[in-house]
Order: sequence, then C-alpha cells, then structure tokens
Amino acid sequence: MSSILDQDIKYIAGVGPSRQQMLNKELGIMSVGDLIEYYPYKYVDRSKVYTINELTTDMPFVQIRGRILSYETFDMGIKKKRLVAHFSDGTGVIDLVWFSGVQYIIKSYKVNREYIVFGRPGIFNNRFQISHPDIDDVNSMTLDDMGLQPHYHTTEKMKKAGMTSRSIERIMKGMLQKLPPLRETLPDFIVRKHHFISRDEAIRCIHYPHNQYEMQHARERLKFEELFYVQLNIVRYVANNRKKYKGYLMPKVGTAFHEFYHNNLPFELTGAQKRVMHEIQKDMNTGRQMNRLIQGDVGSGKTLVALMAMLIAVDNGFQAVMMAPTEILAEQHLATIQEFMKGMDVRVELLTGIVKGKKRTEILDGLANGDVKILVGTHAVIEDTVVFGNLGIAVIDEQHRFGVAQRAKLWGKNDNPPHILVMTATPIPRTLAMTLYGDLDVSVIDELPPGRKPIQTLHKYDNQKTSLYEGIRREVAKGRQVYVVYPLIKESEKMDLQNLEDGFRDLQEVFPTYKMSKVHGKMKSAEKEAEMQAFVRGETQMLVATTVIEVGVNVPNASVMVIMEAQRFGLSQLHQLRGRVGRGADQSYCILVSGYEISSETRKRLDIMCQTNDGFRIAEADLKLRGPGDLEGTQQSGMAFDLKIANIATDGQLVQMARDEAQEIIARDPDCNLPEHAILWNRLAELRKSSIDWGAIS
Ligand code: ADP
Ligand code: MG
Repeated sequence: MSSILDQDIKYIAGVGPSRQQMLNKELGIMSVGDLIEYYPYKYVDRSKVYTINELTTDMPFVQIRGRILSYETFDMGIKKKRLVAHFSDGTGVIDLVWFSGVQYIIKSYKVNREYIVFGRPGIFNNRFQISHPDIDDVNSMTLDDMGLQPHYHTTEKMKKAGMTSRSIERIMKGMLQKLPPLRETLPDFIVRKHHFISRDEAIRCIHYPHNQYEMQHARERLKFEELFYVQLNIVRYVANNRKKYKGYLMPKVGTAFHEFYHNNLPFELTGAQKRVMHEIQKDMNTGRQMNRLIQGDVGSGKTLVALMAMLIAVDNGFQAVMMAPTEILAEQHLATIQEFMKGMDVRVELLTGIVKGKKRTEILDGLANGDVKILVGTHAVIEDTVVFGNLGIAVIDEQHRFGVAQRAKLWGKNDNPPHILVMTATPIPRTLAMTLYGDLDVSVIDELPPGRKPIQTLHKYDNQKTSLYEGIRREVAKGRQVYVVYPLIKESEKMDLQNLEDGFRDLQEVFPTYKMSKVHGKMKSAEKEAEMQAFVRGETQMLVATTVIEVGVNVPNASVMVIMEAQRFGLSQLHQLRGRVGRGADQSYCILVSGYEISSETRKRLDIMCQTNDGFRIAEADLKLRGPGDLEGTQQSGMAFDLKIANIATDGQLVQMARDEAQEIIARDPDCNLPEHAILWNRLAELRKSSIDWGAIS
C-alpha cells in the first residue's frame, strides 16, 4: 500500500539533492514517514519577546524584536572575519555576531527591516551579544512560531554544511502544512480508553506544540504507541509459539534428582530458590515449552537451581545442556556440577572450542546416542555438528545476552523445542526485562544464602594508596586472597596493558613476599589458565588482572576486590566484579580506586556502589544514569530497541500499560482475526517490514 508517507523526501519543498543526501546518510531519513517520526529532543519557549533592557546574563534563550542599525566587519587573522550587526529595539542596542557565512548574512538580513532574533545572550566588551542567532522576518513569523520551538538533533557534518535544527524545523513545518490528515494507527477503543489524542494531532503537535499541555499529550500518545507495538509483537510471538510447539512433559522427579537432593546437596535451599524451583517444575509439567528467565543477584544460587532443573530432565529420559559465555566459566560450571554430583551415575561432559579430535568425537557420539546426559559448554554447543539424542532442556548462563535468534537455534535441537532457562548475570530492571526478555517468564531469586556478610565497599583516591595497602596486608595476614582489577578497553588497549604491567610491578615492590598471579586478555589461553588456577588453588595471594575475571571464577577465600580506575567501569560491571568476593563466610571488602577529578555522574555511580549491595537497585540506577541504549546487550537483543521517543528507563509505567494492553488483546483475539483489531495487525506488519530489528522475531 503506497501512501504519501512512502514518498521520497526529495519531493519535499526545501529539500534539494544535497539536503536529501544529508538526511539520508546522517539521519537515515528517506521518506516522508521517516521525517515525521524524527521527533524533537527538546523545546524552547518562544512565546515571550523580551526587550533589550530586560536582558540578563543568566537567561538561557531569548527572543527580541527590532532592527539592524548597521554592519561592521573585523579581520581576525588571514581570511577570518568577524561580522557584527548592531541591533536595536529602541530600549537598547545589542550585537549580533557571526564568525562564518559573512557574505550570506549581509545579503540575507537587511538594515532597517524588522526581525525577530533568537539566541543565547552573552556579554562581550560590556555589551550584550548573541552569536549565530536565529533570525526571522517579522512578517514570516506566524502566531504558531511563537509557541514552543522544537529542537532536532543534527550531526557534526550537518552543522558544518549549515544544516541546523532550524533547517529541519523549517522543512518539517512546510511539509506538515501540506500533509493530508494522517491515518489513525491505534484502534478506537484504545484511543478512547486512555484518552489519547489522534495520531494526526499527535504528529503535528509533537513538532509544533502551542504549549506544554499539547506537547505532553503528543508525547504520551506517541510513546505509548511505540511501546505498545513492541509489546504486541512480543506477546503475539509468544502466543504463536505456544500454538505451534508442544513442550516436553517431565512429570517425574526421580533418582538423579533425589540422589542429588538428599545425598549431595550440602545445604538447605533458600526460600527463594525453592519458590523458583517450584515455578520451573510446574512449567516443565504443563505440556508447554518453558521459556523462563531466572533473575538473581551474583551468588544468589542460580546455577544450583538450573542444575536441579537439568536433573529433572535427566530423570524423565532427556538430556540437558548448559551454555556459558566463556571457556573459563564453562569449565567452572563443569567443576561445580561434578562436585555436586559426586558418586552419581550420570555422564557429564564439557564441550568448548578447544575440545578437539578424539575427545570431541567421543562426546559427539555420546550426545547422539543419549549416553551423555548433561553437557556443559560455550557457544560450541549450538553448532550444527552437535546433535543430541533427546535434548530436553537448555540452560543459558548469560553474560552477553543472546538474542532471540540465537536462542531459537537451541530450539531446533530436538523435534519439539527443549525447555529454555536463561540466567542473567546481573539483575535487570523489570521494565527493561519486559522488553529485552519480553518473550520469557521471569523468576526472581531475591534472597542470598544465609550467613553471607554484606560486602563493605569503599571509595579511595589514588593518593590514598597507603591505607589501601594496609588493608590488603591485614587481610592477607589472615590468610585471605586479593583481586586487583585494571580496566581494559579495546580503544586504549596498549595503554591499559601498560597500566596493568606497571601496577603489577608496583604491587610486587610494595608486597615483596607475596606470590602473585597475573591475567590479561592478551595472554595465551593455557598461560592464563595456569595463572588463574594458581590463584584458585590458593597458591598465590594476589590476582592482578584486567576484566577477564569479570565472569566466572569462584574463590571463596578471596576477601578483597580492588578495582583500579573505577571511574572507567559501568555500574553493572562494578557490581559484577564485586560479586567475586563475599562468597565465603568472612567479611569481604571492595575498594574502588579513582583519580581525584571525576565527573558528577561518576561520583554518583561510585556512591551508589558504596551505599548498596542490592543488584536490583544498582540496575535501576544504571538504567537511569546511562539510558537503555548503552546497556550491555540491548543491541544484540533482537527485540525492537530502536525507540524513537519512548525511554525504557523513565517510561516504566507506560511499558507496563503497553504490555497489559497487548496481553489483553491477544487473550481476546488469539488468532488475530477480530475485525476491530485489523488495524493492529496491519500496523504491526507495516512496522515489521520497515525495520530490521523487528524481523528478529518471526
Ligand atoms: P549465582 O550463579 O547466582 O551467582 P551460584 O549458584 O554460583 O550463584 O552460587 C553461589 C555460591 O553459593 C556457590 O558456592 C553455591 O554453592 C552457594 N550456594 C547456592 N545456594 C546456596 C544455599 N541455599 N545455601 C548455601 N550456599 C548456597
Ligand atoms: Mg553463577
């Protein structure tokens, strides 16, 4: 269905070939439809006109109305000129200043004609001035222009070519004036239920609100709509899968589970673990495929719960696989599982990229003939060459969140898709989970095993190293071990490695009697492994490392985590690192070391770390501070994350509303064929076609 919205932007007045190129390349705007959804990021109130004698230096933006008295140019070095227009409204004189485009300005704005000038006032040589102001002919300004002025993001390249927010505003305005009324994209019952304004009104008001009230209404309607279609897509996807696939029934709790639970489990499960275990068991016994996310803080015992789910699968004649993001972590999972399953007659194997030759063939054979019951590994386990006799459950321990597409790969490993259990490495806020993991049911382990002392977190500056070293000495004297972590960022890899080497040498000088391990990403796998193992076995007191230790390693005897240049880590990363200590019964410490000069945002981050150990609170704060776009995993999520106006961090309520609405609709119309919903399915199809992101769910 072709409409005016599909029309190329080159047909819009004011968009010549060069601007067309610019909008295409810099902003991805190709069609009229793209353009109307290029929303302003802020508005400036232009409803008030100031007089020059009212101006003060603390005004952000002002609008004045007057005439140019004269122009003056000043030479500023070779070929550089400064142009000044003396401008007056009868109450005083200010200078309008330009550093480029001198000829164009003189030609465009005539002396003695009346203009409205807009910009940020400053003081220079005791006189008010506005540099690079917006200037409009008084006669060309309509009442509409005197409301809230939209501001649009432009890129550096666009600015250099003279294409500013103002240019976009003008193009938008001209286009909207000629645009016929827009088709409604939400069903009437939703619009009425939530008292939304129409799409046509919303689009026009979002670009040209006359007042705050109109702007708010437009934003609300457009945000909801955006979130709603994301949710509808997810909820429909889930419903479709339920119809399409049967899930394996696993009613039996048998020998493997009982042996483990009664003979091998050395402690009592926490209440939260028991609750989640029940949720999982119920899922595995419905005939539907389980798709469940286990959320829980580091150390809350997710792995154990996953293991029990795998044992139930084994008891019912199925195989289980656990996939970890790194080799080290996969190996550690294997070790943990083997330890927990000592003396049990269940074959467990490890498959990673480095398992090759005869060993690999043996494992693959064992998987195919059903002899291997539990497989632990990395991405290697989803390769096409890995064939299971009867896979019943797949556990994904996620550091780097898998997208929907990757998860779907596991689905193909048996006739019916196996049950899927996803464990997040760090908690994520509920509203984000609803979008990022919207296709999964969520279980939360919100309780730590008893006896854990909360980790004490301190922030220290570089120049407080003496007291830091004191603390380390005290802990090591008690027989404890210490992590010292340096950041390693790809862009500054060389310098970061140098920092690590320097730091390592310094520490050796400060603590000449300690044995130390050193681990970084540039080391050979075997070498890394050896260093790490020495620390795990307690042969070294200190592990100096880049962030490679972030995932995995479990050394309950380690009681101190020192994070150097802590300002360079994100909140969830810091929390994840901190979770490496506090695994035993003793008091543990996390020391965040930073330079003295840090931004206020960084300070907030470090403060939050010192205030709380609660991963959920930290995740919320992280989302608020950074926004969802920067959060790890959002890019790979495969769920439409290219939000144009809604913000998962701040629009949590709308996310919930959108999800509720989507669920009600699917419940009422599971086959998606009620006539009053036609508008929804058409719109969804349209959206899915227009964006690659949406295609990830099929
Ligand atoms: P997570 O995967 O959530 O980070 P793990 O499953 O690795 O947590 O558990 C962390 C540590 O706590 C492990 O050493 C594990 O054996 C132990 N643990 C798990 N559940 C309990 C419990 N209920 N009581 C005591 N210790 C537990
Ligand atoms: Mg774990």
